[in-house]
Amino acid sequence: MASHKAIGASSAVFMGFDIVGIITVALGSILPDVIDMLIAGGSDWTFARVHRTISHWWPVYVGTLLASVFEYFPILWGINISLYVYYLSIGCLTHLICDMLTKGGIPFLNPFKQSLGLRLFSTGSPIEYLVVAGITVFFLYNSYLSGDSLSAALRSLW
Ligand SMILES: [Zn+2]
Repeated sequence: MASHKAIGASSAVFMGFDIVGIITVALGSILPDVIDMLIAGGSDWTFARVHRTISHWWPVYVGTLLASVFEYFPILWGINISLYVYYLSIGCLTHLICDMLTKGGIPFLNPFKQSLGLRLFSTGSPIEYLVVAGITVFFLYNSYLSGDSLSAALRSLW
């Protein structure tokens, strides 16, 4: 989970978000696992069965990302909900990308079957931490190099 946060936050830096954006993306990058824990309510049996199913299904977050880009969410008490859904969606998608790299994989078409996995390494293995460190450094390094980023491209759609 810590590795998810590192990638989520460093990709947020890469995309030129402010501090609130970076924190919200970091929260989003652990959200899919938090949802599974909430559903399981402390039961290992339930957790093993719900983990990496609907909460790890990419169309959910691609959907919320698109809805936020087109500002389908309301402005409440002066807070633009779309902006926060946008940050959370980016975080969730980075989480899914990380999980996709592990043995377990994530669902692709059927939300209850994990079929999309590169099976590069299993969760918690030394190789995972090397890959995570590599991706984090890559994002941080690029954030220094590029003034205009993916977020600029997304925002021009916005
Ligand atoms: Zn996960």
